[in-house]
Amino acid sequence: MSQDFEMLIRMALGSHLQELWIRGLEKRKALQEGKIMLQVSSVGNCTRRLAYDIFRQMALEDRDGVPEELRNTLKFKPVLSSHELFNIYLENSICHMIQRWLMDMGWLRCEPYLDEEKLLQWMGDAEIELKDNDLRILGHCDGITVPLIEAPQGMFPCPECWEKEESICGICGRYLIEIKSITDRPRTLVKDFGNIAKWEKVPYGTTLPLTGGGLIGTFPGKFTKLVEPEPEHVAQAQMYAHLVKKHLGIDLRGILFLYIAKDTDPDEYEDESPFNVPVKALLTPINPLLQEQIVSKIRSVWDCVERGVLPAHDWYWDGGESKPYECYYRCEFANLCYPGIK
Ligand code: SF4
Ligand SMILES: [Zn+2]
Repeated sequence: MSQDFEMLIRMALGSHLQELWIRGLEKRKALQEGKIMLQVSSVGNCTRRLAYDIFRQMALEDRDGVPEELRNTLKFKPVLSSHELFNIYLENSICHMIQRWLMDMGWLRCEPYLDEEKLLQWMGDAEIELKDNDLRILGHCDGITVPLIEAPQGMFPCPECWEKEESICGICGRYLIEIKSITDRPRTLVKDFGNIAKWEKVPYGTTLPLTGGGLIGTFPGKFTKLVEPEPEHVAQAQMYAHLVKKHLGIDLRGILFLYIAKDTDPDEYEDESPFNVPVKALLTPINPLLQEQIVSKIRSVWDCVERGVLPAHDWYWDGGESKPYECYYRCEFANLCYPGIK
């Protein structure tokens, strides 16, 4: 295939992704019914970042209430690269695949269907819309299982209660399902080499002479290292659990995180086994105290927005070499908070 032809295909796919993304944003806007709302998926973010995000949406829509000194600087739309979009759709597809398997296994009572735009959607207990007008928050949880029971051979829909809305036998329970796909790419890092004093990534294709000092190391990928759910995923899932109780009246037994590795090296498995599936299932109890804290965090964000002020920083940078990960790598408002950090 000539390179030009390949470029044409990539351009066609890339523009389709952008178009899909814009359609998705419009759909979300329609769900918000003209209101500005927070996304449940972002409740684990820094408090100030949540407020920035609301002020940005207000500034883009020319609404009143944005602090004047921020109005113009905040008028930028979040830009996602084609690669980021590709990853979002890849992760959605993995999520869909797992939901489908859980449906086949009888864990999720749901049915797939094609919407008016011929996009694959779920009805029933997968992709449940959770919206709270009081907290001005909106999201979709991946699923709520039927009552499940633990047995020596594994976990199964409870033979007595699986058709019911809650446990009748008193032993089984319903779980919130959160599906997260993450990378397992190992990283090669170098330290004390040339002018490098701390561990830094070795760019792909770099050849480093191994004599004359310096250390080179390969570090496990995110999935291999994972031993507990990531804090922002816990915040998001606890918020879903809170909304499930509040709006659907379901008392969940716990939160079941299913972390899927997108790119596990088969050599990571110690032995050949039919259970070599790149999934980590992490069970987290329902935590009403944490839920209350998240609810008050959301209220405090809206309170600040109504007063036209920014909440305090959750992360601090003293101007030194070491920069908080949340600010430096993840926050699109970092230069507003800490000019010169990036
Ligand atoms: S730069 Fe850091 S402290 Fe400021 S909003 Fe972003 S994450 Fe929060
Ligand atoms: Zn039961």
